[in-house]
Amino acid sequence: MATKLNFSERTIKFQREADPEWARQVSEHPGCEGLFSCLQCGSCTGTCPLSIYMDYGPRRIIGLAREGFRKEVLNSQTIWLCASCYSCAVHCPQQIHITDVMYNFKREAIRSHLYPKRFAIPVLAQEFYNVVRRNGRTSEFLVVLRMALRTNPLILFTMWRTGLDLLRTGRLKLMSEKLKHVPFLPKEDA
Ligand code: SF4
Ligand code: SF4
Repeated sequence: MATKLNFSERTIKFQREADPEWARQVSEHPGCEGLFSCLQCGSCTGTCPLSIYMDYGPRRIIGLAREGFRKEVLNSQTIWLCASCYSCAVHCPQQIHITDVMYNFKREAIRSHLYPKRFAIPVLAQEFYNVVRRNGRTSEFLVVLRMALRTNPLILFTMWRTGLDLLRTGRLKLMSEKLKHVPFLPKEDA
């Protein structure tokens, strides 16, 4: 875990806290092979439309990952804010598939339960997967309801009018449909 020193607002990370073996394993996953060729040029962060909302920009995520700072990477909001627009990958001079690297981190964060707990996006991804795994198809009502109950139930009070409008216009169904033969999907943390 990173050590916080009081004399400044900066979080100081020490090399001994890193796990280089984890970084090596990441680089063996499909799409992540270029991890160690990053130049830290910052083109990815410069072109990322969402970097201003991220706790670490893509450049810093790649930098943290290749040093082996697993917890910081998997617990970051960045990987969940990534909208898979591929702009970073297109501009990367080293042709690193940054979007695929982000997907790899999302999968590991869910498997390891290391995502930010009350952050809605990873919970939404989990609930979407769970509903599809059970029913063979999604249900917007169930997915959003379960996501809200797990993160911030009070948000339902701000959504009821939109929900009613969607119901009235037939764009939201309360009953979820289930396929007769649901294809097998493993549990999310399998
Ligand atoms: S654009 Fe590519 S080389 Fe440059 S910092 Fe980002 S990942 Fe590294
Ligand atoms: S793919 Fe993700 S990280 Fe890359 S530019 Fe788009 S939003 Fe940013």
